[in-house]
Amino acid sequence: SKEQTRALATTNEAAYERARRVIPGGVNSPVRAYRSVGGAPRFLVSARGAYVTDVEGREYVDLVASWGPAILGHAHPEVVQAVQDAASRGLSFGATTPAETELAELVVARLGGGTEVGGLVDEVRLVSTGTEATMTAIRLARGFTGRSLLIKFAGHYHGHSDGLLAEAGSGVATLALPASAGVPEPIAAQTLVLPYNDLDAVRTAFEAHPGEIAAVIVEAAAANMGVVAPLPGFNRGLTELAHEFGALVILDEVLTGFRVSAKGYWGIDTAPFRTEAKPGGWRTFSQETYLPDLVTFGKVIGGGMPLAALGGRREVMEYLAPVGPVYQAGTLSGNPLSVAAGLATLRLADEAVYDRLYHVSETLQREVSTALAAEGVAHTIQRAGNLFSVLFAETPAVNYAQVQAQEAFRFGPFFHAMLEQGVALPPSVFEAWFVTAAHDEAAVERIVDALPAAAKAAAAA
Ligand code: PMP
Repeated sequence: SKEQTRALATTNEAAYERARRVIPGGVNSPVRAYRSVGGAPRFLVSARGAYVTDVEGREYVDLVASWGPAILGHAHPEVVQAVQDAASRGLSFGATTPAETELAELVVARLGGGTEVGGLVDEVRLVSTGTEATMTAIRLARGFTGRSLLIKFAGHYHGHSDGLLAEAGSGVATLALPASAGVPEPIAAQTLVLPYNDLDAVRTAFEAHPGEIAAVIVEAAAANMGVVAPLPGFNRGLTELAHEFGALVILDEVLTGFRVSAKGYWGIDTAPFRTEAKPGGWRTFSQETYLPDLVTFGKVIGGGMPLAALGGRREVMEYLAPVGPVYQAGTLSGNPLSVAAGLATLRLADEAVYDRLYHVSETLQREVSTALAAEGVAHTIQRAGNLFSVLFAETPAVNYAQVQAQEAFRFGPFFHAMLEQGVALPPSVFEAWFVTAAHDEAAVERIVDALPAAAKAAAAA
């Protein structure tokens, strides 16, 4: 097409130059700007399966997967067909459609009542972004409990609503400060920011603010500071503590939901027996279940289209308008194209898809580690389900302070060496690597072949 030809006539540099004149920083979401790795971001024109193509016509094996949604690979023909069919019936009605009920039923069926471990989700509200899902869940928790304060963990990301752009004050139980210009101090001061994986800090905060804390929000497994899994029993302990003090738990599965398992990270975390691959073998341990009060979804649930959701038990969810007193709304909520993409994606994501995601992830973890070890680069593979990231440090990190202490300067050269060889990693060391079920042996081989040179570049940094 004309558009395609015009796009291909340019370079990434030129496209970036042009974009920066009319878009702040040339990007519509900051991490796309290659801020921490340097250079012009790749301007993409198309994506298919495991590959993306930039304006120069160069193809890359993609390990961003749109930051999570593309578990089936890009532009899966059946998902695209479902969107095209939906589009042919109308783009948006501003009225309820039967497909929204189907999607809600699907989520409830996977996470709902009647299972051995008890249900997590009886009802679902569809929204358009993860930011909206967590923002609404927090308002709902405040409305339900009649309390104001919120606990979040340092290094966890839940979207960009004001109260979540907060960073720790001087002590564990002190109210937070704004983490962005434009966030009023009194709003940041409604949040307490605690070190992750530290239940003592959570207890201290609850004891310092009796009857004031509405909710704790936590990533089901942290994956926005690189991957940092919850220590065994952390999510359960957190839930018990919150409930002891009359607060709700919001389990944020925007990134992990429907990616690490059909029941998200909660499904892994509450399986009666959990088996994990460890270097040199397998490890099985038993664990107990826990029931957070609200759960948020995004990314995979929309199959690459703008869609997110919050869900929980009926008693809490029915505090939402129009049934209850907590207001929330959206012109494009439950958009028919988004719902079609989400339904198609979730229905196609069968056991074979999850098996493939795990296989690819474990292969890459092993190969990355081998390549870095061969060059003597101190590193740890941080993993949670099929999510992983590389930490440039000898010892595993369990919180944000430890993640920040790594040799982050090694990532830029590593990233660019991979990019030059046709592999697109997330452009920051503080991000998870996302595999897809479309990463076949050829795609994996291309990544593996690129690793030795990238490891050399990291070693030389
Ligand atoms: N929660 C988590 C755990 C996320 O990873 C993200 C996005 N990376 C969000 C919330 C916000 O979602 P969105 O970008 O769709 O607003």
